[in-house]
Parts: sequence; C-alpha cells; structure tokens
Amino acid sequence: MRPTKAFSAVSATSPLAAATIPRREPTERDVQIEILFCGICHSDLHASRDEWSEFMPTVYPIVPGHEIVGRVTRVGSAVTKFQPGDLAAVGCLVDSDGTCPECRSGHENFCSHLTLTFNSPDPHKTAPVTYGGYSESVVVDERFVLRVPANLNLAGAAPLLCAGITTYSPLRHWGVGPGKKVGVVGLGGLGHMGVKFAHALGAETVVFTTSESKREDARRLGADDVVVSHNANEMQKHAGSFDFILDCVSADHDINAYVNLLARDGNLTLVGAPAKPLAVSAFALLVGRRSLSGSNIGGLAETQEMLDFCGRHNITADVEVIAIQQVNQAYERLLRSDVKYRFCIDMASLKAG
Ligand SMILES: [Zn+2]
Ligand SMILES: [Zn+2]
Repeated sequence: MRPTKAFSAVSATSPLAAATIPRREPTERDVQIEILFCGICHSDLHASRDEWSEFMPTVYPIVPGHEIVGRVTRVGSAVTKFQPGDLAAVGCLVDSDGTCPECRSGHENFCSHLTLTFNSPDPHKTAPVTYGGYSESVVVDERFVLRVPANLNLAGAAPLLCAGITTYSPLRHWGVGPGKKVGVVGLGGLGHMGVKFAHALGAETVVFTTSESKREDARRLGADDVVVSHNANEMQKHAGSFDFILDCVSADHDINAYVNLLARDGNLTLVGAPAKPLAVSAFALLVGRRSLSGSNIGGLAETQEMLDFCGRHNITADVEVIAIQQVNQAYERLLRSDVKYRFCIDMASLKAG
C-alpha cells in the first residue's frame, strides 16, 4: 500500500482538510493514475455532509471527487488499453460485477453491485470505503478507465466525467438530433453541458432559466432561444412544441409547466434530484401521450463515446479552476450557485501544499 496525499472530511460538520490515505499497489489489471484535475460535483458536497444518509450513508473519513482527469504512471501486466504517459479519466464508477444483464449490455451504471468512486465498500479492502479524486493519485481497474482526446483542455474535460455523461446519455437515449426541438431547464453545472450537447447534436435548443442575467450566456453556450420561466407569455409561446426536455433543476419547481410544453409523445427527463417528491399532473401526461423519465450518468462505452464526441466538437465544461486549499470556500459558493459553471481543482496545488 502506498500512502497518498488527499483532502478529506472526518465528519458531517468538519471542513475538508489535508490527509493521507492508502492506495493499493496496481494489480495486474489496474491502471495507476496521477490526478491532474478533479471537478467539484454537487454530490461531493452532499456526501461530505451526509445529506443523502437515507440511501447512501457517508463513511468517514470521506475523500470526494468523481470527475477525474490525469496521466497514467503505472499499469499492471495484463493491462492492454493504457501505458504510462497516456491521458486517462475516471468518472463515478470504479468497479461492477461484470456479469449481470446490466453490465453485459453496457449499462454498468445500473449494476446492483457497482462500486462508486468514493464512499462505496472497497472490494480490494485497501480501506473500508473507496476514496475519490481529491487526491494525488488513484488506482482503477482498466475497464473503468477512459481515454481523453488530446485536443481537450484538461481542466474543462474533468467535469465531462459526471456532468457531461449525465446530460449526454439521456439526449442520446431520446434520439436528440437535427429536426428535434429540445429544452434545457436550469443553467448550472448540468444544464450548461446539456445546452452544449443539444446544440452540437444539431437540435433546436431552448434554455429555460429563472434568471434574466443568464440570457446572454445561454446564447453563447449554444441556445437558439432563451425563456425566462416566470414570464408566462414566453412560456406559452412554446406550448406543446418540444420533442424532449432535459430538466436539470435540483430545487423544488413546477414540473407541470414544462410537461405542458411537450409535443405529442414528447419526453421530459429529470437529471436533477429535488429532495421532495414532485407533484405531477396526470392530465398533463395524458394529453399527447407524454412521458416523464429519469436518467443517471451512463455506462462505460457511452462515457467513452461522449468523450470522443467532445474531442470531435471541442466541447469542455466552463470551469473556474481553484487550488485544493480553496475547496471549502468553493462549496459555500456552490450552495449559492455562484460559479460559471463548474469548479475544477488543479491537483498540482495538493503536491505544493
Ligand atoms: Zn457527480
Ligand atoms: Zn453488473
């Protein structure tokens, strides 16, 4: 085992601070990665503060981080996809059983025996739970390591591993492309990626925001039209016209207002996770055979497809790069949605600190 520098929280109320964690020596199928950048996802904050204790209680200490980009430093003898010096990425998953129907159909993200990148029981028993990307290195089975197109800005590429695949996967699943009209609700970490993808896939893209100040940004990100959602006239103009709406809002909101904008057989997919159940009008769904869905990250093959798509279209997240010593302030700003549109930690700061 190798002692490895990291940032961790020791309880739900303590800030993240420097710590040393164990990392396993690579097994024959493992890839060891020096982490260069790690994005900050809202899940990092929820898990650090044990806010999802009902279904995923946090085991302390916790090392968050599942938007990891780095460089391969060592590989096991049976590794075929990577060699030292390669760029590599790791997202929300680091293992799964590999044998269930979900895994065999490339939907490892829906495996009932998956291992999350942090706060999952560690199958290698290096520590009680897995430790995430707020650390100088990580060791991962090569099946869960992704290739990063060389043309991408690495800080901007890190958030693709969660915010990117979370929005790309439902857009692909629901057939978004030329000739389709797509709405993206909420312009934050997820929403800003949804706009970039919907636009690059060739769809007519409309952004819904509560904030007048985001109009210009939405256009810059690729929106053909922007609707300020409390303006009833603007909403009415789009009634019954969308093939697909991607709802990226984590706060309580009126879902029916958006369902009513769907065309016949239109679908609204939730990728945000409001804490309270949403009140859905049956009539809004019945009229026009509309449907309501959810989606959660994506499988390994689709995550690689997304990264390759980003390489071809030169798509990355808009990031504010910070030193790891600023992570607690970044969490406070994240709670106020005071970031455009994702924080990304420059891991060189961990070595220097
Ligand atoms: Zn995430
Ligand atoms: Zn499985």
